[in-house]
Amino acid sequence: MNWESVQRRVCLRRLTTLKAGGEAEFFAESRTSAQLIETAAAFQREGIKVTPLGWGSNFLASDHGVTGLVLLNQTRSITIEGEEVIADSGAAFQDLWLKTTQAGLVGLEFAVGIPGTVGGALVSNAGAYRSNISEFLIALEVVQDGRAEWVDPSWMEFKYRDSVLRCENPRSAVIARTRFRLPKGDSKKSYDEAREYQRQRIGKQPPSASAGSFFKNVIDSKLADTIEGLTEGMRKNSVVPAGFLIEQCGLKGFRIGGAMIGKKHANFLLNVAGATATELRSLAHYAKEQVRSRFGVELEEEVMYIGDWSSFVPIIP
Ligand SMILES: Cc1cc2nc3c(=O)[nH]c(=O)nc-3n(C[C@H](O)[C@H](O)[C@H](O)COP(=O)(O)OP(=O)(O)OC[C@H]3O[C@@H](n4cnc5c(N)ncnc54)[C@H](O)[C@@H]3O)c2cc1C
Repeated sequence: MNWESVQRRVCLRRLTTLKAGGEAEFFAESRTSAQLIETAAAFQREGIKVTPLGWGSNFLASDHGVTGLVLLNQTRSITIEGEEVIADSGAAFQDLWLKTTQAGLVGLEFAVGIPGTVGGALVSNAGAYRSNISEFLIALEVVQDGRAEWVDPSWMEFKYRDSVLRCENPRSAVIARTRFRLPKGDSKKSYDEAREYQRQRIGKQPPSASAGSFFKNVIDSKLADTIEGLTEGMRKNSVVPAGFLIEQCGLKGFRIGGAMIGKKHANFLLNVAGATATELRSLAHYAKEQVRSRFGVELEEEVMYIGDWSSFVPIIP
């Protein structure tokens, strides 16, 4: 293992969109998939935990830091042959849309406005407007137990905003490369659709530091049927937006330290004044408590808590 390129005690705050959290015990960057595989495999063989980091747009690192190696994924390559695409896991999800559209392929318009890498998007099965990244995946290369292999998408056990890499006891694996198949289509229509999605996002998303939607929406037909104030579309699809529930609890603009629930969109937890990771998680904890006591619903985080949270005690407002 090449320890020369490994840094110690690197602050992760500047590398995540929530701008909070502590230090990585070890830190390295990879610019090619070969480097990514080599570094991840070498650390795994030493028994050192590897935490990949893309754009940090779904990543809340504990104030107490992250033990093991945080591996910043700066790989970028995307190649297209016919209807098949091979992308490095560090390629921007939005670049995947742009390059495939330029090649006359369609389907990823929903990716526009989702910050982050293809790897990060796969871990949470990222999506919007009723589409998810997993729909187009045909294979992925994963590094686990010190070696890389191509596996079938079923390996990921995808669900709504979920996969085997983010469940309670996640597999310790790094996605290195990915293969997608997309249909040929009308590029002009794809651009127009993407532009419309972007326009809708600009209207909804606050400019402050956030990780996008903090909680997953609730899929519950009984709740959707009984709760007042939902649109017909939401009721039909049994979707109760997490932001709607938080707003109903009167929490828009509510603060703990530098962390605030969005005034525009209650499912956005914002870092408005140098919030610590503890303040952000405490605010999430409080919002969950309020929603539980008012609606009997357990909100589930979309954002991932990374690192050592064993001594977390929520701040009571
Ligand atoms: C303004 C804003 C809007 C957003 N809108 C949406 C939206 O509409 N829909 C949506 O689904 N999400 C949305 N998000 C959330 C986020 O952008 C996505 O989850 C994104 O796909 C995360 O990618 P990332 O590279 O930033 O991952 P990171 O935050 O860097 O990592 C997330 C997790 O994935 C793991 N990981 C990252 N790369 C790999 C890899 N190569 N192999 C294995 N594990 C890996 C990390 O260790 C971590 O556990 C939004 C976020 C923001 C800030």
